[in-house]
Amino acid sequence: MYNAKAYSVAGATSPFAATTIKRRDPTPHDVQIEILFCGICHSDLHTARNEWSSVMPTVFPCVPGHEIVGRVTKVGSAVTRFGSGDLAGVGCLVDSDGTCPECRASLEQFCPNGTLTYNARDKHLGGVTYGGYSDSVVVDERFVVRVPSNLDLAGAAPLLCAGITTYSPMRHWGITKGKKVGVVGLGGLGHMGVKFAHALGAHVVAFTTSPRKKEDALRLGADEVVISRSADEMRKHAGSFDFILDAVSADHDINAYVHLLRRDGNITLVGAPEKPLAVSAFGLLLGRRSLSGSPIGGIRETQEMLDFCSTHGITADVEVIPIQKVNEAYQRLLKSDVKYRFSIDMASLKSP
Ligand SMILES: [Zn+2]
Ligand SMILES: [Zn+2]
Repeated sequence: MYNAKAYSVAGATSPFAATTIKRRDPTPHDVQIEILFCGICHSDLHTARNEWSSVMPTVFPCVPGHEIVGRVTKVGSAVTRFGSGDLAGVGCLVDSDGTCPECRASLEQFCPNGTLTYNARDKHLGGVTYGGYSDSVVVDERFVVRVPSNLDLAGAAPLLCAGITTYSPMRHWGITKGKKVGVVGLGGLGHMGVKFAHALGAHVVAFTTSPRKKEDALRLGADEVVISRSADEMRKHAGSFDFILDAVSADHDINAYVHLLRRDGNITLVGAPEKPLAVSAFGLLLGRRSLSGSPIGGIRETQEMLDFCSTHGITADVEVIPIQKVNEAYQRLLKSDVKYRFSIDMASLKSP
């Protein structure tokens, strides 16, 4: 074991503070990574504040962070795909059983025995896993992906969660040139959804409640922007979408979007509203439309997504902050006051 610098919260109402955590020495299958950037995902905030206590209660102290990009500093003797100095990424998962049908299908995100990057049981050291708000991390090579060197690293970090979460359902639902794709909600997830749909060749319509976001949506790659509060504007698109990505995590009327789908169209939820959504059966019946959800993606697909980003020059739009500003960033995140993701420059952890 060795000591790593980190920022943790001691309780659901405590601010982040500098601390030291234990990391394992790399086993033969491990990769040790010096963390350069870590994105701030809304899940980090939910976990730090124990807002998901009914599903996965937070064990304190908690070190969140699952949008990790860094440089390999050491590899175990059995590691074959990474060497010292390589750029590497780690997302929401750091382990799985590797034997179940989901793992064998490279869909580790559905493994019943998966290990999340933070706040999950640590098989090696006991206690819980600690995430990326730290200067280093040690991860089984199977859960480490290559980060293409042409990507801006601060903007690449959010690809590990926000990126794969929006890329995966678009691949699953066959988004290609000629499809009409809607993206609801222009936040950390939604802005990535617009970029991917555009790069996949779709005709992209961004839905937003705020006219202020129109210019930005067009800049991100939307072909059209619809102000969702306008019933008239919404009606114009009735029955026309192949696919809609719903990235809204607040309560909202999903039926308004279901009606915009064409026959066999699909709307996929990637946001997680706290309360159940009311869904009209008629909206789904008429047109054989479907509603589904999608969480992150498997490791193989995460690598595919990063390579796609490399080819198309895609990264998240980020505001880079030093770790000392993380409490302030959380306050702003609560107000959706960020374009579109915070990325922590982990070099700041070295300063006192
Ligand atoms: Zn996340
Ligand atoms: Zn499995």
